[in-house]
Order: sequence, then C-alpha cells, then structure tokens
Amino acid sequence: MFFDSHAHYDDKAFDADREQLLGSFPEKGIGYVVNAGASFASSERSLELADKYPFLYAAVGIHPEHAQTLDEKGLEWLRSRLSDPKVAAVGEIGLDYYWDEPDPLIQIEAFRLQLDLAKEAGKPVIIHSRDAARDTLETMRTEYGKDRPAVIHCFSYSKETAREFLDLGYLIGIGGVVTFKNARKVKEAVEYIPLDRLLLETDCPYLAPDPFRGRRNSSLNLPLVAARIAALKGLTEEEVEEATFRNAKRFYGID
Ligand SMILES: [Zn+2]
Repeated sequence: MFFDSHAHYDDKAFDADREQLLGSFPEKGIGYVVNAGASFASSERSLELADKYPFLYAAVGIHPEHAQTLDEKGLEWLRSRLSDPKVAAVGEIGLDYYWDEPDPLIQIEAFRLQLDLAKEAGKPVIIHSRDAARDTLETMRTEYGKDRPAVIHCFSYSKETAREFLDLGYLIGIGGVVTFKNARKVKEAVEYIPLDRLLLETDCPYLAPDPFRGRRNSSLNLPLVAARIAALKGLTEEEVEEATFRNAKRFYGID
C-alpha cells in the first residue's frame, strides 16, 4: 500500500470527480493521504475532507506565499485545530524566495510562529522550502531544533543540502520530479538519502510524474515515483513502497 504524504485534494482541479477519485483509493492500494493546507480556507477544506474519509488526514498551516495573512487571531484558530485527532501535522509552512513577495522577514516570522505552534502541540511539520535553503536550515535549527519531526517536502536541493537536513534528523519528501529527465540534482539526492528517511508524495494536482508530466496528478501515480526511486537505489518497488508507508505512518503518528 502507498502513503501519499502530501496532497491537495481540496484544489479546484478535483471539483469534477473528487468523490469518485478519493472513493476509489482503498481498492487501488492507496492506504493513506495527508492533505496539506496552504491558507486558512484550504486548511478548513482539508479538515472537511479528513472528516469525510477515514484514510485521509489533514495538515493545517499557512504557506509562505500567504505569510502576511497570519495574525494573532489566525494563529489561535490554527492552535485550536491541532487537538483534532485527524490533524496529523502543521503544514505546509516554510520559506519561498522564488518570488519577491512576501518580504523574507514576513515569511520568517510566520514560519517561526508556526514552528512554535507545532512544537507546543507535539505535531510534526511539513516544510515548503524553495530557493531558501540557508534561511530554512537556520530558522529550523534555532526555532525548532534537532531530532524533532519534520519533512522537507518536494525536496529540490542538492545532496549536500540533503545531508544538512538529515543531520538535523528530518525526513525528505520525494514526488514526481524524480522521474523528470532534467532532474539530475534530485536524483543524486535520492541515491544518497537513506530509505528510512524518505517519504513518497504527489503534491497533486501538481507535479505529475513522467509520462504524465503536465497533466493533473493524483495518488494513483505514486507507483511511478516508487519505481524511479527503486531504480536509483537498486531496490525493488515493493521495498520502496513498504518502507515509505512505514516511515509516513510513524512520522504522522498513525496506527
Ligand atoms: Zn503542497
């Protein structure tokens, strides 16, 4: 069975067939899904999906692109949701310097506040980090700490940077990008990262693996990602499937 550690089934890309698609997962070998929030609205929708589907858990959090929306009241709202047993994590939170906005100082502040929240609630964190490796490492080192549960989702950095995150005790999330022809850096990182530190993810509807690149992604494509990782690491697909399933269950505290 597969565990999709990061998906966005609240996205409008699934409006036409969400029920049918999610309803098919148990019989298609998708054991669990964690649906990540990115704003207050999508965190709320994540919770609604978690209420409806036993195999789906929610993460609640404010993505760096919405960092400026996190005020005192919003923080209280997030805190109040963390006692829900179907809330598996705080996320996705982090830093994204690809665009000029919001200002990095605003992003770092929202990131710190949410790391504190997760620490206080004893929940794992799902980290979004793009073009911001240094500040992500620095903020997590000082604000969150070593050997606490964190996954660097959709990992896009080098093998050397992977080592720095692994040294802090964190996990690495790998999705469709590892199947892309031009993804040399991510492939090198995957070869290097120990199997017990890897999570499978889709980030759907985005980042469909080859040969479906550019189309709508879903958890049903996870076997393609597992196959690619298995080939890179000289393992069987089943070994990758089973290990990442176990890793994700342990990480999110799901029995
Ligand atoms: Zn995401």
